[in-house]
Amino acid sequence: MRIILLGPPGAGKGTQAKAIAGHYGIPHISTGDLFRENVGQGTPLGLKAKAYMDKGELVPDSLVIAFVEDRVQRPDCDNGFLLDGFPRTIPQAEAFWKYCSENDCQLNAAVNLEVPLDLIVSRVSGRRSCPSCGTVYNVYTNPPKTEGHCDKDGTELIQRSDDTEDTVKTRLEVYEKETAPLITYYRSKNILDTIDAVGTPAEVEKRIFAALDK
Ligand code: AMP
Repeated sequence: MRIILLGPPGAGKGTQAKAIAGHYGIPHISTGDLFRENVGQGTPLGLKAKAYMDKGELVPDSLVIAFVEDRVQRPDCDNGFLLDGFPRTIPQAEAFWKYCSENDCQLNAAVNLEVPLDLIVSRVSGRRSCPSCGTVYNVYTNPPKTEGHCDKDGTELIQRSDDTEDTVKTRLEVYEKETAPLITYYRSKNILDTIDAVGTPAEVEKRIFAALDK
């Protein structure tokens, strides 16, 4: 299975991506996570990406496309992959569609997670994650058992530096302008599945598998 996961910030892409990738035994490739790793390690790519990420803006298409095309060539993607946070613009989508056609790795599905705007803000501002194992919590809707600490390994939870109110506003504007048009793009390619992403992670997961198993 080769799947793309679409949706605004806070739609639950990261949480659902882990479930889908686990179910199909395919790697979960999150461009946001990969950029954050590169920023943390101070690589040349990380240094270039950081300035854009801090402002909630998109990293330039040329950097992202080359990076993802290189990633999906690795052997762990032989049976498919799940892309989370890519593509984010029409030029990224068009370049990747062309790449997949030329390399016999056509996409099977674009899953679009739909959530109303007022929910997005509380989901993003309440989001906390474990820097050690990546588990994502929400202080309002899915708090850890011990405040501020991961249920799985006890590590102190962190808030992403771009989850602040101002940056979230920019990220939502960028989403509406640059990423929302991808919904029409993948509908025209006949691979779009729109999922109601309001509910518990388990409820949303069930809807996604029902759509994908079709
Ligand atoms: P995310 O974790 O998916 O919300 O991504 C965090 C940040 O990484 C975004 O706000 C962008 O600055 C950058 N980023 C992630 N994926 C992409 C992409 N496909 N194109 C451009 N920038 C990206």
